[in-house]
Amino acid sequence: MYNFWKKDYVQPSGVVCHHCRKLFELTSQDVCSAKRIIHHSTTESFVSSIKAGCPICRAILSEVDDPQKLFLYPFLISLTECLIREPMNGSVYDLGFTWKSPGIPKRYRRVLVQRYDLIKQFLPRIPPAADRGWNNQTLEVVKKWMRCCRKEHPNCQALNAWRTAGLDFQPKRLVDIGSDSGRTWRLVLTGNDNIFRSPYVTISHRWSQNQQFKLISETIEAYTADQPVSDLPRIFQDAVQVVKSLGIRYLWVDCLCIIQDSHLDWQRESLEMCKIYTNAICNISITGFEDTSNGFLDQTCRYAPLPCRVQPRWAPSLREGWCILDPFFWWAQVTKAPLTKRGWVFQERFLAPRVVHFGPDQIL
Ligand SMILES: [Zn+2]
Ligand SMILES: [Zn+2]
Repeated sequence: MYNFWKKDYVQPSGVVCHHCRKLFELTSQDVCSAKRIIHHSTTESFVSSIKAGCPICRAILSEVDDPQKLFLYPFLISLTECLIREPMNGSVYDLGFTWKSPGIPKRYRRVLVQRYDLIKQFLPRIPPAADRGWNNQTLEVVKKWMRCCRKEHPNCQALNAWRTAGLDFQPKRLVDIGSDSGRTWRLVLTGNDNIFRSPYVTISHRWSQNQQFKLISETIEAYTADQPVSDLPRIFQDAVQVVKSLGIRYLWVDCLCIIQDSHLDWQRESLEMCKIYTNAICNISITGFEDTSNGFLDQTCRYAPLPCRVQPRWAPSLREGWCILDPFFWWAQVTKAPLTKRGWVFQERFLAPRVVHFGPDQIL
């Protein structure tokens, strides 16, 4: 993996694809005429860079409607091109990508090249591990975000105090995943169990096509006794792993905490949603995946992220070089993600005091 924390900048070989790398090898004469430069000349080459994990090509892909089409039709895109624009203030270059295709509406995707010395203070000090799944390093980052938000953000504290003012609330049912290394879960009723005011996490997820795993009248009794976690759908097994490693014992998820075949229960509990999400310590959102039948932890974080450092030939030579940034990263990973298109997710995002999004490339 390219180590952009190294003191001496290195060309981002092995992460940024050969076709993108060539853009940084152009001279200022090549780019000054404001002409579009051919980036990929076939769909095939574009797709293979995406599959290899090139962060720039993946950023361009995030602008494509129905990206699956690209993998199915090998001649769909005749070429991708790039326009490198001179900076207004000398510190940021603008790379505008687009494509030619009869079948995909044309859009533009920008990537920025910024002076490294101006942004390094915002970047993490420790390079990410080569395996960026749900490992200790990722866990520590999320824990740090949580700690920081709870203890150091005065606005979050004020907002939370306002949200929960006068509320003495705990959801009617919670899933208890235990506090030890046990691999069982059970449904608890807050009225019966002494868990009042225990922190809990909510889960935002997309129901699968034929969601069979749910609380119904006839499963209540069984679910209040210990059940193996390994019997849960993979998405919930992964969620249990995340919540447990954050040191939280309870979670609330709609399909297990609302009796799905009781109209009355549904009516009652759906009115409590506002309080349920407001009072959670955090919402875990499985944001970036179309299909979660194999869970989400194994699917995330396979690719090296931007930013990475470069010294483009067309930019002034700087001691610490330049950095490639994606200004639309949040938009691509969260705003435009499959889950966010669902209407009811709005309240889950809006009401939760904090949200950990599992995106296709990163945890946000
Ligand atoms: Zn590329
Ligand atoms: Zn905060």
